[in-house]
Amino acid sequence: MKDGKTMDAIEKRARELLSERGVTLHDIADLVYYLQKNYHKNLKIEDCYENVDRVLSKREVQNAVITGIELDKLAEKKQIEEPLLSTLLNDEGLYGVDEIVALSIVNVYGSIGFTNYGYIDKQKPGILSKINEKHPGVCNTFLDDIVGAIAAAASSRLAHRAANAE
Ligand code: MG
Repeated sequence: MKDGKTMDAIEKRARELLSERGVTLHDIADLVYYLQKNYHKNLKIEDCYENVDRVLSKREVQNAVITGIELDKLAEKKQIEEPLLSTLLNDEGLYGVDEIVALSIVNVYGSIGFTNYGYIDKQKPGILSKINEKHPGVCNTFLDDIVGAIAAAASSRLAHRAANAE
């Protein structure tokens, strides 16, 4: 991972926001491992971590992370007007803009990311089930999709690189 000095303000903020919301890169690396373990012999968690880190160094990804998490935080502070406030706080099933923001992350490493994202969004392993627990006053409407999307994009990156290596 890059140190704070070589990271610009947007990247630094994106990484800070994830950790502020209780998500570590290790949590996301575990999701990548979950998605990829059946496809790569000798898959190491370090490789998963490395791919997550590289995904987070992309500007499109950083922007999606910041946009989504800021909206979750504004909703918690009730600084968004109705009816959007209730939509976000209740994580309304038909809203769908959270998924669209996530797709801007999934897109970064090509279309196999879509399959990974859809799968992990249904299964909700590891940190995703924790993020999806309902607690009063907590809004993770965007966060769950963002985390799933980073894992899906990192899985695609890993898969592409493995294919190139063969
Ligand atoms: Mg969501």
